[in-house]
This record gives sequence, C-alpha cells and structure tokens, in this order.
Amino acid sequence: MATITTRFPLRHVERSRLESVDFDNLPFGSIWSDHMFVADNIDGEWTDAEIRPYGPMPIYPSSKGLQYAVSMFEGFKAHMTPEGDLAVFRPDMNQKRFNRTAARFVMPELPKDLFFDAMRELLDVDRGWLPRADQGALYIRPSYFSTDPTLSVVSGRSFRYVLMTAPVGLYFTGSETVSLVTTRKFVRAFPGGTGGHKPAANYGPTMLASQQAQAQGYDNVIWLDGHEGRYVEECGVMNMWFVIDGTAITPPLEGTILPGVTRDSLIRLCGDFGIPCEVRRIAVDELLEAHAAGTLNEAFGSGTAATVQPIDRLGLDGTDVLLPQRPDSLASRLKAELHGIQTGRVEDRHGWLWRP
Ligand SMILES: *Cc1c(COP(=O)(O)O)cnc(C)c1O
Repeated sequence: MATITTRFPLRHVERSRLESVDFDNLPFGSIWSDHMFVADNIDGEWTDAEIRPYGPMPIYPSSKGLQYAVSMFEGFKAHMTPEGDLAVFRPDMNQKRFNRTAARFVMPELPKDLFFDAMRELLDVDRGWLPRADQGALYIRPSYFSTDPTLSVVSGRSFRYVLMTAPVGLYFTGSETVSLVTTRKFVRAFPGGTGGHKPAANYGPTMLASQQAQAQGYDNVIWLDGHEGRYVEECGVMNMWFVIDGTAITPPLEGTILPGVTRDSLIRLCGDFGIPCEVRRIAVDELLEAHAAGTLNEAFGSGTAATVQPIDRLGLDGTDVLLPQRPDSLASRLKAELHGIQTGRVEDRHGWLWRP
C-alpha cells in the first residue's frame, strides 16, 4: 500500500452554518456539518486525502457508483459526555463491517488507520456540531463508491471515500413508537445476496414496500425470509426483537440479516440485566400464537438511528396486534441503558466508547 499523503489544509469555512441550526429540534440527516473528509483510491493507491467544506463534488454521470450501484455506506454516532467530551460508540465494529461490505463489492479495503485518522481530524474540525446529550448526537456517515467512468461491469479502478457528519435529534421517526406490517409481495434479502452487508443497493428496493405499508396505515414493513415467507428477518432498516413470556428473541443473522452493532449491544445488555435472550428463528405463526395466548409482551426494532424503537402495532397476515406500551418495558430499559453508556452516564463496562 502506498503512503497516505494526508492533507488537512482547511480548518474552517468562510462562514459556518452552525448559528442557523436549531439544536433543540434536529431532524435526522438533513443538516450536515461544515466539513467533509474526502480521499480517492486510484489503481489501488490511496491519494488526495483532505478535509474540505461540505458541498457538491463533480462526478462523471457514467461512474460505476451511479450506473451499477458500486456504492456502500456505514452509520454510527458520537455523543457528548457529562464532561463535554466527545465519545464515539463502537466505531471498530463499523470499520470492520465497512471492509466486509467493500470486499463483497470488490472495492479496495480502506486501511483501518485511514478510517480512524480521518474521523479524528474531521470530528476535531467540526467539534462545534456535536449536540448536547439531551438534544441528540452527531451521526457519522462514511460513504464509498466507484468513480470509474467506464461501463464494463467490474468494480473499476477509481473509488472515493467520503466521511461526513450530521447533528441529529433523539427521535428519527418523529414519534416514540411505530407500527409495522408483514409483506409477502416484497423480499429484502435472499441467501447468497447482500442482505448481511451495507451496500447502497439494499435501500432503493425497499422504498416501494415502505410506501405501500404507509398506504395501508403502517409506518413500515416486517421483512420475512425469501424462501417460505414464514420467518421474521428485519423491519424497515432495523433489526427485529420480540419479547415472549419475558424472553427476548432476535433472529439469527444467517447472511440475510444485517449484523447490527445495536443488535449485538442489546444481546450483551440482556445478559447484563439477566434477561433470557434467544437468538433464533421466529415465525409469524409463533407470534400469532403468542398473541392469542397473551404472552407476546413487546416488539421493538434496533439500529443506530433510533437505537431502540418500540413498536405499538403489528399487522401480521391480516391480524392487527396491539402492543400497549409500559414504562418498565424491556425496550425502554435497554434504550435508557444504551443511551447511558453512549453518553458516558453509565459505566462503559464493555469498553464500547472511542474517545478521539
Ligand atoms: C444499518 C442497518 C441496521 C442497523 O445496524 P446498526 O449497526 O445497529 O446501526 C439494521 N438493518 C439494516 C438493513 C441496516 O442497513
């Protein structure tokens, strides 16, 4: 690998947009911090690494990133601790997942040092964009795509890595609970596909399904397995959880489910709480039976954006299952504990925080 010539010439933009932002009412991912980090990989060499003002960049319309979706991303958050420090939640997990997705799309590996050095520098430059813990977090979005402007169906010879950040509020859906409905018309992932990776191409095809769920009065869909349409896999863009008779259940990854960092963290927090947690397949029929027996206590989603997203209504094959929200639910306990660790208010007993 070539030496990385990292230039960080820009310490500030002419006029920061910071003053115009209402930090008490932050949306999700539509306000971007002043700067971005950009680096290119040309013929296998990393080059032209720099921090510049966030803004448009020229890219050929024939680039493979646009034409063939040779494009991927990651997402995680930094929070403010009581001391006013910045703490990033488990970025090592995202760094590894980043390179796993890159390999699946035959894109060059991003060196671990470049991933962390770029993040350290960018967070330093845009430190003022970190919301207070009670306002939200700084969402960190690495993005990586082929810039090769030729139409042969290979991943190409030039790629761009862009790192950007966005201050985000506490509720990314705009409400505290969501409703979900099963779909058999659409399938998110199939064995051998890319469901267990994080390419941009996993997202475009879900939008029609979400739109149709919304037309039926739900917020989003529950994805079922592609073979039998029986087993629950994920919901919207989150991993899926149920609580049946006091036991937390989440489906096994098996290649079609995105290995969520939040999911992994919640499995460990269940262990800390002494709550039984099973990683196993769960069928729609089993949910309907549990509901009929009165043992379906809770359902929730997990992911970086919403952290733990309680679900108040499930449309399961035409049966509407209402899930009353209780203040002492496992979802709210996990959410509070996770947020406590992320913001440095609860002991970081698993060593999850990275402080640049
Ligand atoms: C990113 C993502 C998740 C959540 O993963 P986290 O690492 O917890 O943010 C879940 N499902 C899908 C499809 C995703 O793309």
